[in-house]
Amino acid sequence: MFGNSFRLFKLFGIDIRINPGWAVIATLVAWSLAQGTFPELYAGLDTRAYWAMALIAVLGLGISIIVHELAHSLVGARFGTPVSSITLFMFGGVAALEQEPKAPVPELLMALAGPAMSLFLSGLFFSASVAVGGVEQFPIRAGVFHYLALLNMVLAIFNLVPAFPMDGGRALRAAIWAATGDIRTATMRAAKVGKFIGTGFMLAGLFAVLTGNLLAGIWWILIGGFIRASAIGAFFNTRIETVLDGLPVTRFMTVAPDTVPSDLTLAEFVEHHLYRFGHDMFPVMKAGKPAGTIGLGEVRQVPREAWTQTLTRDVMTPLTPVKTIAAHEPAMNALIQMQANGLNRLLVIDNETLVGVIVLKDLMELLSVKLALEPASKSA
Ligand SMILES: [Zn+2]
Repeated sequence: MFGNSFRLFKLFGIDIRINPGWAVIATLVAWSLAQGTFPELYAGLDTRAYWAMALIAVLGLGISIIVHELAHSLVGARFGTPVSSITLFMFGGVAALEQEPKAPVPELLMALAGPAMSLFLSGLFFSASVAVGGVEQFPIRAGVFHYLALLNMVLAIFNLVPAFPMDGGRALRAAIWAATGDIRTATMRAAKVGKFIGTGFMLAGLFAVLTGNLLAGIWWILIGGFIRASAIGAFFNTRIETVLDGLPVTRFMTVAPDTVPSDLTLAEFVEHHLYRFGHDMFPVMKAGKPAGTIGLGEVRQVPREAWTQTLTRDVMTPLTPVKTIAAHEPAMNALIQMQANGLNRLLVIDNETLVGVIVLKDLMELLSVKLALEPASKSA
């Protein structure tokens, strides 16, 4: 989901990462602060001072967002929902949960920890601006603190908007979860509210653009679109989870899939397997066990003249954990694994033996049938 992000450092055992998109947003924010906001708020300073203030403010914003996410993470870890990484993302931070929260109250506390921390930081920065002499007397150093106090206040309030998957939306989900006792019903209802609010933001942005407030308008459209897309994604993920309902991959896999011996020539592989079935990935078998995979990509690396002298085992991709899934795993995990790694099929392994192949297209077709037949929510 977060594509290629870079690791900055490790804190409390959590990877702090940055998405390149954030650097773009940070540059835009710094530019608009140096060119517009600070000259307007604190008139009479020179350009270099505005740029210095803007850069420190953006750095402070990044740190504030990381601390906000850390608050979520540490409360989560306290309740047994560890976080493996925090990524500075386009519109803030995202903490990668290793698993779904276990109960509504920890979920509620975890959701509120971030905005509470932002509120605290806001107070801290405000005190700092007073401590260094106040905005009137020392606009450069106090001005940055003052502005960071304001930013953290906005961060706290904005994150409390009840639009799932934002913090306020998570709190809303926890409340519905506590009331209904069912996390899936709660997620789907909170996601519907999130979609509604996201659409509202987009319309407000459109209105702003049409009335001449271009930059703010685009900002609201982007944020609204992000919330809307996330909410729709969360809704469908939950629908799929409900339909798959913990069933293992073995229920959805193709048994006795077409396999390729490791001593077959590429010429034979292309003729009898690739051209015949057209799959993008075939398991390569060695002594009765899967040893690797082969497909169009591997064949393309070998010139056609050499196909009769090259064996599948010479060019196959060795078996990696991302391409296999254990037979007892829930089908939902197979779907997540394929989506995360851009794969269309996975080898289903039981005790080092290949028992089948799970194919994304088949799984999606089955899902669409089940989705059409089963009600959206058991208790709704
Ligand atoms: Zn948050």
